[in-house]
Amino acid sequence: MNFKIITIFPEMFNSIMNYGLIARAVKKKLINLFFFNIRDFSKNKNKKIDDRPYGGGPGMIMSFLPLKNSIIQAKKNDQSLIIYLSPQGKKITYKKLKKLSKKKSLILICGRYQGIDQRIIDKYIDEEISIGDYILTGGELAAMVLIDGISRFIPGVIKKKISQHEDSFAKNLLDYPHYTRPRIIDGMKVPKVLLSGNHKKIHTWRLKKSIQQTLLKKPKLFQKRINIIQNKIFQKKSKK
Ligand code: SAM
Repeated sequence: MNFKIITIFPEMFNSIMNYGLIARAVKKKLINLFFFNIRDFSKNKNKKIDDRPYGGGPGMIMSFLPLKNSIIQAKKNDQSLIIYLSPQGKKITYKKLKKLSKKKSLILICGRYQGIDQRIIDKYIDEEISIGDYILTGGELAAMVLIDGISRFIPGVIKKKISQHEDSFAKNLLDYPHYTRPRIIDGMKVPKVLLSGNHKKIHTWRLKKSIQQTLLKKPKLFQKRINIIQNKIFQKKSKK
């Protein structure tokens, strides 16, 4: 999968490209990251890419032309979906990340300052995506969140497929608690059942813990699971 990143700070992405599973995925070419530095598309002799807002007010706005030219260059020869990382966008979810992972290519536009000229959004953006209801200083961190979250769904990025299915949110249930060696630490013991070797019992314990964690920490997620199960039962009954 190709990620084409439009930014004034491509170096920020070194952090994900050099560490962990994403670095491995880049090395193995399971994902490719391409950078389009907006300043390279400025016709201004000082490589200026921003200007004052019409109507006055604080801060600067990223100008139309350098962004437009970056997008045209990034979109050359393909049908990439164009995403603007924005606090005004739809909040990203597990389901959405999974859906985006099926795309061949995404263009991610990272805003800075007070944001980008509205006419870029009107003319070029397919989707605005937010990573949460707060304001960051730029879209780069948000783009990295997207790249990381999407990449986990790309075959080969995570070694064992199973770990994906058991992740929190995969089945609208939070993950169960995990333990590793040693058996006792600071007077705290690993639950006996996990040492029993009885896989059926372990599975039941984990499911119970998942349900407990979800009810306690994210009751709305649990309700969603119940609704899905109820719908399935209803559909089965109405087919009979
Ligand atoms: N004035 C803008 C507003 O209130 O909608 C915020 C601009 S913000 C300081 C600069 C850039 O950071 C935005 O253009 C966007 O690309 C990015 N950004 C900030 N918060 C974000 C969020 N929660 N999710 C995704 N991108 C965000």
